[in-house]
Amino acid sequence: MSYKLFIPGPIAVSEKTLRAMAQPMIGHRSTDFVALYQSIQPDLQALLCTTDPVYLSTSSAWGVMEGSIRNLTQKKVLCCMNGAFSDKWLDVAQRCGLAAGALKSEWGQPVDPEALRKELATGQYDTVTLIHNETSCGCMSDLPAIAAVLRQFPDVISIVDTVSSFSAMPIKKDELGLDVIITGSQKALALPPGMSLLSPSKRALARAALCKTRGYYFDFLEFQKNHESGMTPSTPVIPLIYALRSKLDDIKAEGLEARFARHARNNQQVRDWAFAKGFKLFPKEGHGSVSLNCFANTLKVDLAAANKALKAKHGFVIDGGYGKLKGLTFRISNMGDETTETMAALLQALDAVLAEQGVK
Ligand SMILES: *Cc1c(COP(=O)(O)O)cnc(C)c1O
Repeated sequence: MSYKLFIPGPIAVSEKTLRAMAQPMIGHRSTDFVALYQSIQPDLQALLCTTDPVYLSTSSAWGVMEGSIRNLTQKKVLCCMNGAFSDKWLDVAQRCGLAAGALKSEWGQPVDPEALRKELATGQYDTVTLIHNETSCGCMSDLPAIAAVLRQFPDVISIVDTVSSFSAMPIKKDELGLDVIITGSQKALALPPGMSLLSPSKRALARAALCKTRGYYFDFLEFQKNHESGMTPSTPVIPLIYALRSKLDDIKAEGLEARFARHARNNQQVRDWAFAKGFKLFPKEGHGSVSLNCFANTLKVDLAAANKALKAKHGFVIDGGYGKLKGLTFRISNMGDETTETMAALLQALDAVLAEQGVK
């Protein structure tokens, strides 16, 4: 049975992207691969507004999330926590044996720039992790405001996860002075899972050079050395690199501004629908994500039953709440290739499913 995902990752992958993956293999040390790798760089750099390299890692995002702190933390990492993924980063740091501190907010509250400034002013930290768009609760933090604080601490290296916001809205890496940007393939980029992207600043590379416990697979210096010859350290997931090439062509054809505007429009379309029903946004006002919506289940809908009917009768799947928010919230993704029409088709199906539970 085939159905379409509107969960916030993995998301629906276009036929064009799937076809791109089915091209014959090339050797990862061949001139064909180098040409492919090098053709991708300027387009990724344009998406991040950066002159820094963007490495391709054959791993899910967690690979480079863990790899980054292993490469960069020598003193202590401060983990900004406001949802499932950012909370987990503290746990990962501790499992790596790193000294780690927590800057906690409730799920759905954004990272507080002033609280961050106060904590960094203690002078304990040399690294900060944060998630731009906390997918678990649909909460987007104010990256420019946070970056303004980070720039006051030039010895602190910032690691920013943009897994569900990359390419859905502007992220101006160089202008903001962010050190490391991370993203994954299966969310905002609408590719299948299995690849992540990593863009380090010169400062981050200089820090990594001082660190003795970088390991091998996610070693920034190995990535950089290979990057300089248009390659990756080990055999990469070539089908996903074909898919990325194809997706970057799509993005260029649409135009960045049009892509950002489409995400904002589709996001608002879902909000308008939910607000008319009587649902409320779960994250703090003004901090709702642009690439998904996380709604509080204020109407006490049986989400499991609704999702089951949605899938069986209409061929769509939404998310019924992440972790401790299961049943209490639901999430609808508008990442990737969605249009006003495809979102309307989902919302119409949801209308029918919710009507069965007496929700008009
Ligand atoms: C999904 C997600 C991750 C984890 O990605 P994996 O690909 O499962 O490793 C990390 N951060 C955010 C914000 C996410 O949405």
